[in-house]
Amino acid sequence: MTNKHFTIVGAGIAGLCLAKAFEMKGISYTLFERDEQVRGIGAGFGLASNAMKAFEILGYANEIVPLGHMLDDFEIQDWKEKTILKADTNRLRKNYNTDNFAIHRADLHRYLYQSIQPENIKTGHKIIDVQQNYDKVVLHFDQQPSIETDYLIACDGINSVIRQKLLKNSSPQYAGYICWRGVIKDPNYSSKKSIETWGPQGRFGLTPLVNNQIYWYACKNTPLNSAVYQWDLKDIKNNFNLYSGLIRSTLQKTKPEDLITTPIMDLKPLDSYVFNRILLIGDAAHATTPNMGQGACMAVEDVCVLMDELERYPTNIGIAFENFNKRRLKRTQYIIHTSRLAGKVAQFEHKILTSARNFALRTLPTSIAQSPLDDLLEQDFMSI
Ligand SMILES: Cc1cc2nc3c(=O)[nH]c(=O)nc-3n(C[C@H](O)[C@H](O)[C@H](O)COP(=O)(O)OP(=O)(O)OC[C@H]3O[C@@H](n4cnc5c(N)ncnc54)[C@H](O)[C@@H]3O)c2cc1C
Repeated sequence: MTNKHFTIVGAGIAGLCLAKAFEMKGISYTLFERDEQVRGIGAGFGLASNAMKAFEILGYANEIVPLGHMLDDFEIQDWKEKTILKADTNRLRKNYNTDNFAIHRADLHRYLYQSIQPENIKTGHKIIDVQQNYDKVVLHFDQQPSIETDYLIACDGINSVIRQKLLKNSSPQYAGYICWRGVIKDPNYSSKKSIETWGPQGRFGLTPLVNNQIYWYACKNTPLNSAVYQWDLKDIKNNFNLYSGLIRSTLQKTKPEDLITTPIMDLKPLDSYVFNRILLIGDAAHATTPNMGQGACMAVEDVCVLMDELERYPTNIGIAFENFNKRRLKRTQYIIHTSRLAGKVAQFEHKILTSARNFALRTLPTSIAQSPLDDLLEQDFMSI
């Protein structure tokens, strides 16, 4: 493996997975994180079979699996609980030989964080500027001394300062809907089925986690920063009060302090993730709307492909970065486009449009209705 020193910025799933992979291969690195504490904010995650395959390649899927659980089924229903689409999970598991997995973000972050050497992570380091010349990258932090590094891997998320310094017009774009999230505990709930409900008042998803926890999310169309962004739990309960009993009781059990409100954004696909000695990965490179549940999965895939290239070209990092770019661009661009489109269809509110959509999805063979996800999962990301 390479003897160069790498700097990683951002201790989200991309940065932590990469740090762990570097440690496992003995690559020298330092990770800088803006926050004082490294933690996973954002309730739950659904990790599809491609992410589980990526963890297997990285060598620790068997340590992650006990922290969450495999899901049996995924179904989309209308607000009267009538099935619109049932995923054919057998088809989906065919290629990677593993199921979709659900985990609490905090559990995944804790696992990754605790398995890397504390001296390699510098928290409280917010990057504010970056420059590079022919043989070094210089990082400037808020109220901390600047540093120099051989190579920089930017994992600083959708609002990446590094990306926006390199590409002025790369700010995130709003998808048109707000998302609320939370996790509750319900001792009476033991299903392993994930359900998404589509209705005129918005979309509501329920995914069971371990220890009788349920991760929920809800999306509603609204302009960015409209009055809906000020809604509290009472307003959200009112909005969904005609939806299923499980949805209503989930909202009832949610504690106000656990409510997370996020505008759904993505990035206009970039033409390149490589900028000489700087490489963007994860959301910093290709943030997508969450409709296909693939953002974090792509970050873990990125780490696998980057490690593969560093193994092939340990002394020529420039080639490793360029090859990473070639292997990752098309797949991640496809996800951004397809996920944005899937979100538009799922967020239909007009009665005629929703009836036509539901009819079409109920009548189409499942293999066609779920083909965007199938296409993605049938492709072996390591062989690209
Ligand atoms: C509502 C919602 C639901 C989702 N559900 C799923 C799902 O089910 N499955 C899935 O695969 N994906 C899902 N995603 C996407 C997933 O959350 C992201 O793709 C993933 O978290 C990206 O990881 P990352 O490490 O690239 O970025 P982030 O998780 O955003 O991490 C970035 C890190 O960089 C740090 N940072 C930022 N700026 C600076 C700075 N200037 N200096 C230093 N550090 C900095 C941050 O503090 C943070 O620690 C969802 C997203 C949303 C919004």
